[in-house]
Amino acid sequence: MVQVTELGYFGIGVSDLAAWKQFAREILGLQVVEEAGETDRVYLRMDYWHHRFVLHASGDDDVAYVGFRVAGADEFGEMQKQLANAGISYRVGSLEEAEERRVLELMKLADPDGNAIEIFHGPLIRANQPFHPGRGMHGKFITGDGGCGHCILRQPDPEAALRFYQALGMRGGVEYKFGKGPKALLLRFVHCSPRDHSVAWGVPASDKRLNHIMLEVDNLDDVGLTHDLVRKAKIPIAIELGKHANDQMFSFYFKTPSGFNIEYGFGGRAATYQSEYYDADVYGHQGLF
Ligand code: FE
Repeated sequence: MVQVTELGYFGIGVSDLAAWKQFAREILGLQVVEEAGETDRVYLRMDYWHHRFVLHASGDDDVAYVGFRVAGADEFGEMQKQLANAGISYRVGSLEEAEERRVLELMKLADPDGNAIEIFHGPLIRANQPFHPGRGMHGKFITGDGGCGHCILRQPDPEAALRFYQALGMRGGVEYKFGKGPKALLLRFVHCSPRDHSVAWGVPASDKRLNHIMLEVDNLDDVGLTHDLVRKAKIPIAIELGKHANDQMFSFYFKTPSGFNIEYGFGGRAATYQSEYYDADVYGHQGLF
């Protein structure tokens, strides 16, 4: 079975591009890049990739697409057969569409809730342009094999979502269970890389597709610094500092200019091979539920 290898990039539709640029640079520490002739979007970098985020001035204030990488051209071809066998329809993007994303090839599809998914190979790596953080950082963002982070997406049919992401070669299932019986709240997490999870779902429904995106740093002090910056800028904190039981991430969550949250974390562990579940976090994270 061909597997996607990492969550490579996000497209986000925003209404206030100026506020986002300031937020990305000064609060998150990401690098803002603007390309000539592309006035309807800005790119955010966190490593050597051309970008990890595209902010589109669409007014949506929600996720526009999520890009998953496959290893190369062979896997890109195999993935098409695998999707067809699973009854999942897709469209191979034109050369122009691939070039728009700075990848060699991509296909476009949708998950069961209609979240736009892209599968690509061959991202543009700007090896001659080291990441330059938007503000001082003690360390750096953790990407590499683990991709750019993780997200929680809305999925009204959790079983259909699991089948879809399994068809992409991902593995996972329930990691949190709150309550008992058929009405228990189940949170599902799937992974495709050394990162504990790349996509999760099951939090109470909201009007947005995207609940949060997680960015991980390799220095605890960057979580502390970001917490200070968020408080100083009076940005609402949705979930206070704490440590998750599943990925062991020490993190906190705060509001973006689009209303969904960013989780900023340190110390995540790899996925456990055998399933287990939790009914509480290690500590903290007040506001989670
Ligand atoms: Fe998270």
